[in-house]
This record gives sequence, C-alpha cells and structure tokens, in this order.
Amino acid sequence: MTSKQILKEMTPYQPGKQTEEVKREYGLNRIVKLASNENPFGYSGKVDDYLSEHSLSLNIYPDGYTSELRMALSNKLKVSEDQLIFGNGTDEVVQTIGRAYLYPGVNTIMATPTFPQYKHNALIEGAEVKEVPTINGYHNLSGMLETMDDRTNVVWLCSPNNPTGSLIPRDDFYDFMEKCPSDVLVVLDEAYFEYADGHKQPNALQYLNQYKNLIVLRTFSKAYGLAGLRIGYGIANQDIIQRLDVVRGPFNTSSVAQKAALLALEDDKFIYDSITRNHTIKHSFEKFLNSIDWHFYDSQTNFLLVSTPLSSEKMFLYLQEHGFIVRPGESFGFPETIRITIGTESDMQELQKILYQLNQKVNEGLLT
Ligand SMILES: *Cc1c(COP(=O)(O)O)cnc(C)c1O
Repeated sequence: MTSKQILKEMTPYQPGKQTEEVKREYGLNRIVKLASNENPFGYSGKVDDYLSEHSLSLNIYPDGYTSELRMALSNKLKVSEDQLIFGNGTDEVVQTIGRAYLYPGVNTIMATPTFPQYKHNALIEGAEVKEVPTINGYHNLSGMLETMDDRTNVVWLCSPNNPTGSLIPRDDFYDFMEKCPSDVLVVLDEAYFEYADGHKQPNALQYLNQYKNLIVLRTFSKAYGLAGLRIGYGIANQDIIQRLDVVRGPFNTSSVAQKAALLALEDDKFIYDSITRNHTIKHSFEKFLNSIDWHFYDSQTNFLLVSTPLSSEKMFLYLQEHGFIVRPGESFGFPETIRITIGTESDMQELQKILYQLNQKVNEGLLT
C-alpha cells in the first residue's frame, strides 16, 4: 500500500490551539481569538431564532442541489442558477478546482504570501507550483503574467489577499483578464468581498460571460459569521460549473448550513453593522499602530498584517500569555509579522494596551 509520494513531504493544516487549552495552560480567565478572521460580532440573529424554533430533520439527507440557497443567491448576484457551485466551506471549492483542473504535467501560479490552501491542494494533485512574491502586499499581476507558459492551467488571485489584506484594484484586474490567455482558469477568491470598498474592487460577476475562464469564490465564513457551519460557493460560466459538479460530493453541504446561509443572506442589516463597526475599529487600530510607529499593510478586510519588532513566534507567545491568540507570520514565510483579526471595540482596546507595553519594553531593551 503506497500513498501519493508527495504526502510524505507535507503536513496537515495546523489549526490554532483551542482556547480552553490556552486558558488552562496560562491560568487565564478569558482568551480572545484573533487568529482566523472570524466575525467578532457573531452572525445574524435570524439564524438562532429559526434553529431554536424548528425541527432540523437530521435523519434526512440535505438537498444535494442546494436549491433554496441557490435560487436566493442567483437573484441577489444576478447570475443564473447553473453558474453556482456550493462547498463545505470555500476550502472545499478550492479542493474541487484542484481536483478538476490540476494534475501532473501542468503548473499553477499564485502570489506569495497568499491563502495556503491553493498550494496545498496543487501539490497533492501533482501540479507544479509557481509562486510570485507580492509587492508591498499587493499581487504582482504583471509578474504573474510573465510566469505563465503553455503548461499553466490555473492562476489564483486572492482579493483582498489573505494574509496581507490588499485588494486587487479594479482596473488592474480587467487589464490582467485581457492579457491572460483564455485557456488559463483564473480563480478570484473574494472571501472578504463584503468588507472591501465596493468602488475599488472588481465587478467580477459582470464579466463571467465575457471571460469564460473565470471563477469567483465567496464564503459565509467571514462577514456572515458562519465559519462553524462550513459553507462557501463559486460563481462561474456553466461549463466550468459542470466539470466541478462531477467532482463534488453528492451531499457536500449540510441542511443546517444551507438553511442558515439562506437566513443570513437575507439579513442585510447584520452585514452592514458588522462591516461599519469593523471599519471604525480597524481605523482606530491603524491610528494606534501609527502612533507606536509599527508598519502594517493596506487592508480592505477584517484583519491587519502588522510588522513587529520581535519575531512572529515571540510576539505570538507574548500575546498568548496575555490572553490573545494571533496568527504568526512565520507560517506563511513572513517571520517578522503577525496577522491580527479586528475584534470588538473593547478587545482591541485591551490589545492596544498590551502592545503599547510590549513596545515600551522593547524600546527600553527589556524584551528582545
Ligand atoms: C477563510 C478563507 C477561505 C475559506 O473559507 P471557508 O469558506 O471557511 O472554507 C478561503 N479563502 C480565503 C482567502 C480565506 O481567507
């Protein structure tokens, strides 16, 4: 019995420590997790109201076609129903794209740093991975075009980019699509779409008929606050969706996730409140970082990638001891940065105090 050779060289995704474990270890009453870009304000109250009043019929398989949610999204996004594919989180759509379009002999292009699952899945499928470094956190789109050759099958654009937060400006995206060969699949991952400035980001969905090699990914895990239920989706030309549907598991999203996503989708007010609060808190956190002279990357999301005076591992441990879990940049090859999810007003005030003290200790030479 032999597995794919490459699996011996790879490691499973490393989830952050569970908060209970950290609390016990450090004797803390409370721990604030700012490591996975979850919505600190929860999710639409309509979801809890519904779930507490209705039987879930968990003995019945879910709707494998995700009909109700599909219809609602097709209306909202003004695309046809057969232009949508749902996944057990966008993670699964990424995996499905890999399974359908990546195989030994082709290559795939992505930024670095970017969302790690693109590379992870590509390696498992046996495709060659070509990474093009970002410039000040922004995708180097001309560099990505130059890296393409006749074996390039898929290119991954993450906008806004996780972990830098930077958006691909609208005109740059159109320019890229014009120059990109039409037989290269372009994946535009918009997991943070709701947070980004609508005037600056591409109206990619309007171009799905023009660019038949484009798939846009979105999720209910971030602004919608439903990360625990695992549901995300892709929007593309029918031909792409047909291929992906062959690969997709028959009942890959649960009935609870489908229902919750449908209810969450109808609650515009929750999304509006979340993004306006995020915007205000992020702005004041940015002002604080400027005041202590720490650099951060342009972010159109609910997180900031911050350059730190200590190694990311030391920053991580210090903050963990003080009740905060952040994402160390080491994990994506940026050793002197941490990625911080924007939390609630009070949690961010608390974090600022801790960072202020840490910075003073560093300046006084008490921490190195
Ligand atoms: C969080 C995230 C995803 C995955 O979201 P799920 O729907 O929870 O699987 C995909 N892409 C990016 C860039 C993300 O940050």
